[in-house]
Amino acid sequence: MQVNDVVAYIQADRDRFVADLKEWLAIPSISGDPAHAEDVRTSAGWLAEYLRGQGFPTVEVWETPGLPAVYAEWPAEDPQAPTVVVYGHHDVQPVEPLEEWETDPFKPVEKGDRLIGRGASDDKGQVFFHTLGIRAALAASGRQSPPVTVKLLVEGEEESGSVHFAELLRTHRDRLACDAVVISDTTMWSADVPSMCTGMRGLADAEVTLRGPDGDLHSGSFGGAVPNPLHAMASLLAALHDADGRVAVPGFYDDVVPLSDEERELFARLPFDEAEWLRTAGNSRAAHGEKGYTTLERVWARPTAEINGMWGGHTGPGGKTIVPREAHAKISFRLAAGQDPRRVQDQFRAWVAEQAPPGVEAEVRVSGGGVRPCFSPIDSPGVKAARRAMERAFGTEVLFTREGGSGPEADLADILEAPLIFVAVGLDGDRIHAPNEKVEIPLLLKGAETAAYLWEELAAALR
Ligand SMILES: [Zn+2]
Repeated sequence: MQVNDVVAYIQADRDRFVADLKEWLAIPSISGDPAHAEDVRTSAGWLAEYLRGQGFPTVEVWETPGLPAVYAEWPAEDPQAPTVVVYGHHDVQPVEPLEEWETDPFKPVEKGDRLIGRGASDDKGQVFFHTLGIRAALAASGRQSPPVTVKLLVEGEEESGSVHFAELLRTHRDRLACDAVVISDTTMWSADVPSMCTGMRGLADAEVTLRGPDGDLHSGSFGGAVPNPLHAMASLLAALHDADGRVAVPGFYDDVVPLSDEERELFARLPFDEAEWLRTAGNSRAAHGEKGYTTLERVWARPTAEINGMWGGHTGPGGKTIVPREAHAKISFRLAAGQDPRRVQDQFRAWVAEQAPPGVEAEVRVSGGGVRPCFSPIDSPGVKAARRAMERAFGTEVLFTREGGSGPEADLADILEAPLIFVAVGLDGDRIHAPNEKVEIPLLLKGAETAAYLWEELAAALR
């Protein structure tokens, strides 16, 4: 494929691409608001029709007990070619507070190189660059079908918690069989420093209750002679980390995939301004965490135990001299690559039982099985191929990031049993989920160019 042909095609198609995207962005597909359920359906229908027009031989709207996803498939010419699922979502976040928008969130407008509107970056714009990418690749190669089988899966409930997504994946598992999953719903480091995400942390929760006497006791009559559950909770929570900031629960780090030297070196090359980052961290006045790791490593690649809340005893106005009957705390764990939420919850439960002093009964409850972390090593074939595609499009070295939060991505990896590849061109400054969401049109076009090269790179790498 000639680079120039792809670039020329994309440049020639720019205006039509943006006009079509604007039409889709005008549909207020807010999945979290029941009043907009019909709009999410309209968005699914609009996308399905659009993908048919783009030449996808198979396009279906997949219903769920909630809101529909769109599925489209374009088989490779060669039946032996690898298969790639592309994941994105067509629903968007609510737009409140509306008065902070400078333009109507659902009347997308161009200002210079920017396209402003809800969903421009998260995630309609990023789904859309794949449609232009695939057309550019076909036009430039003179072929009728891509070098890999492309299966597009565009969810309709991502912004409302992906409640039916795992079930949807299980229902259509055979149709979605693939060799890799490309996720286009994340960000790059910056417009000048293109990067690929290689993983997201998982999540597990626990609520601890410590019980002492049957009722609150008079601290004059009994204080100092019976265990105080709030004291026991304070000791327990204080013991959760050691002096180096490591989580003290036995076995907690056993399954963590360590950072490779190469990944650490590449993270270190990102132009990271810790003072600026601290400002974004609610004006935190100091960085803090596990000894031996940088801030980015702590947030992206190391697990945490965080106390989210603790309560008990008398907290109302005035004094009340009691030994309280109970103490409570909510804890959550961000999990690094390799960790299993259930296993961490079991390890924590065992540790709490061991820590509780005589006369204090401990109970640990969990709200569910948590979210598994997901991770793709930077030397895996799919990541290397996508990095080459991105480097061809951007004309510069592509670095790596990870994400500290969690999403439905782990379900894709687990249920489809395929490695994840994050290819995205959003920016942290795109104000996703906030008023005045925007996307940089030149980056969307670079995304399309990346997508155009991606299929031939993956065809070679995944064989
Ligand atoms: Zn998103």
